[in-house]
Amino acid sequence: MNKKTLKDFTFYDKTVLVRCDFNVPMDENQKITDDRRIQGALDTIRYLAKEGAKIVLISHLGRPKGKPDPKLSLLPVARRLEQLLGSKVQFFQDDLVISQETKDELGVMKLGEIALIENIRFRKEETDNDPAFAKELARIGDVYVNDAFGTSHRGHASNLGLASILPSCVGFLVEKELEFFSKTLENPERPFIAIIGGAKVSDKIGVIENLLDKVDFLMIGGGMSYTFLHAMGYNVGKSILEIEKVNLAKVLMQIAKDKGVELLIPIDHVVAEEFSNDVDFWTLDSENISDDVMGLDIGEKTVERYSDLIKKAKTVIWNGPMGVFEMTNFQSGTEGVAKALAESNAVTIIGGGDSAAAVEKFGYAEAMSHISTGGGASLELLEGKELPGIESIQDR
Ligand code: AMP
Repeated sequence: MNKKTLKDFTFYDKTVLVRCDFNVPMDENQKITDDRRIQGALDTIRYLAKEGAKIVLISHLGRPKGKPDPKLSLLPVARRLEQLLGSKVQFFQDDLVISQETKDELGVMKLGEIALIENIRFRKEETDNDPAFAKELARIGDVYVNDAFGTSHRGHASNLGLASILPSCVGFLVEKELEFFSKTLENPERPFIAIIGGAKVSDKIGVIENLLDKVDFLMIGGGMSYTFLHAMGYNVGKSILEIEKVNLAKVLMQIAKDKGVELLIPIDHVVAEEFSNDVDFWTLDSENISDDVMGLDIGEKTVERYSDLIKKAKTVIWNGPMGVFEMTNFQSGTEGVAKALAESNAVTIIGGGDSAAAVEKFGYAEAMSHISTGGGASLELLEGKELPGIESIQDR
């Protein structure tokens, strides 16, 4: 990792703008239902407080579309943060996010004090990466810290904009994310397995192409399996199929062959006649899928085959569920793969989003080496793309 980190700066008496990802789920009463993202920011905040910085936290919450929305205020986050830190967090309820009044109050903060400003996406200029807005924000602080991995694939005022103006570094959370991904993608211990699932192959083309250059085994699961199976000449019945991607699937299979990567496609499937948890379901081998059924999960034989290989792996990256894991009838494949990862001695990295949710749901989170906090951002890293929110941070 060649980006500056917290250890490259002294923060004493500096006002530090920290972009966090406090985009936490809340119920209809604005009660936080999962505070892991807030917990993830604590190390950086505590460190800066100990160093004698004046800390101004910035985050978005939901999609207010550039307008103030009381339901998307960060006030509940400030209160939860206060509980978790055990110290005061000043919160500025401000429709303009940084009105003159807020700026004045931030200007008289004392060493070690912590403030959270209002949802940055109340201002349209945030997602537009408006240079005047970035400048206005930058005037509040002396140093910028990006600790929001989940938004690092976006080029917004509160990451790209600020990092282009102020001295900058990544926080502990982003540093950990980058270390796991770069170590794994640049210099993996082998055998290296990637497991790619999810609904559509079209969403994962870039990931598959990039990983075919790096992995020893690529395991496919989820809805995208059926585009590959169709390309292999199997009937896929009513399963989700991207007919216009069948040729691409053929090309990917050929690339895998040329590169000596073993591309594994499910050999059996949990099927049903409808996309529903309330109908009969049973298991069929790939060659027996009939016109009236759809594949909604990988079958037991596939889980066993994948698990056997996972046992021997040294590095495993997983992105995307193996089936419709939200429905209990079709969760076994995803659960089985999660279990295999949990039991393996490999370095296990879970891309954010659905795979992270699945690992949590089945109780295997603690057993993984790393669960990414950013679904979109980790997907882009796996595609080999550069993240604007990271690239804009100063090099060491
Ligand atoms: P993605 O966002 O592309 O990772 O896709 C995740 C979604 O794919 C989940 O909501 C799953 O329910 C869905 N999914 C997984 N397997 C299948 C399948 N065989 N058929 C339809 N949808 C699926």
